Amino acid sequence: MIKNILKKIPAHLNGESIKREESCRLCGASSGKLLAVTNYWDIKNASLVQCENCGLTQLDPMLTEDDMSEGCLAYYIEESLRSPEEERKRNLLRNFRKGVLFGYSLKKLHYAPEEVLEFGPGTGYFLQGLKFIFPDIRITVIDINQEVLSFNKSQHNYDTFKTTPEEHIQEFDNRFDLIIARDILEHVMDIAKVFVNVRKYSRPNGLFHFITPNGHEDLWKHYLTYNYLHKHSELLINHVNYFDGNGLLNYLLDKQFTPVEYYTYKLKTTLRGRGWKVRPKLMAAVSQNRSAGYYINEKIAEVKNDTINKEDILNKWYINSKRKYLIYWISWYHHANLIKIDPKLNVGHEIYGLFQIPVKSH
Ligand SMILES: [Zn+2]
Repeated sequence: MIKNILKKIPAHLNGESIKREESCRLCGASSGKLLAVTNYWDIKNASLVQCENCGLTQLDPMLTEDDMSEGCLAYYIEESLRSPEEERKRNLLRNFRKGVLFGYSLKKLHYAPEEVLEFGPGTGYFLQGLKFIFPDIRITVIDINQEVLSFNKSQHNYDTFKTTPEEHIQEFDNRFDLIIARDILEHVMDIAKVFVNVRKYSRPNGLFHFITPNGHEDLWKHYLTYNYLHKHSELLINHVNYFDGNGLLNYLLDKQFTPVEYYTYKLKTTLRGRGWKVRPKLMAAVSQNRSAGYYINEKIAEVKNDTINKEDILNKWYINSKRKYLIYWISWYHHANLIKIDPKLNVGHEIYGLFQIPVKSH
């Protein structure tokens, strides 16, 4: 019985072979497998097409920069209105603890970063956790959202740059020994350019750390809606890349990145059926062509700007720089990934990567 279930995980994805509107942004292939059709708000209809060469599933056609900034703003408003302030504050602390845990994992591997760059830092609290372990690191963050940057500047005094991970910033070349992209790679339009920049920005033997959803599970909801309801699904958050664990590794190996750690974690989603079970509740909502303009024009005034006081957030008995083992144990208790699965299996919720960046050959 268990054997039979395990055979079904993950499910094989069937799709018609099609000629793509745009070639694969990772490997350039011009055909692919049609897995779903989604509507990104009322902004764009796009297919989810899996590249049969590299395994990456992407929106075809890809969003433009304008599509993305409109949709991102609408999503930011929509999400702020439905998540309670207390929950958002708890997330800051969670991110801090995850940063602490990540810092310890680097220490165990005998790495001590000095210059750190994060793409899309969110609230910046993951980096605060890292800085708790390595107090002398210098931190630079980039984002396309000015509000994110202003928050990071005023809360943490990081160096901030308004740009995308794809855009090449010359003054970053050869500067960083740790580059971080947590839950970012699934959002970028030109994924190959990001990896090129990571190489350029890194000092010799620098590190690249990312987390990104297991693409197979992430696209499962759209796949079900398309294949079982025969409807377009709703895409509100701009996940434009859905990574195949094997394809992503092969790509990075091909670019001479060396894996230090590469695994998938969190099995809860898989146990609930994501990636293999056909159930109505696992399906993505059928598209209503929700209006991005409505949120941007009518609802933005309802978004309250939280006042976040860093001392309050980090005022916890176990956060004490004289007794660092306390925060380590608490962070480990809350966030350690005890079950690590080979991403090649495409099972589990999220892929964790830590790679050594190759020395450039000019
Ligand atoms: Zn490809």
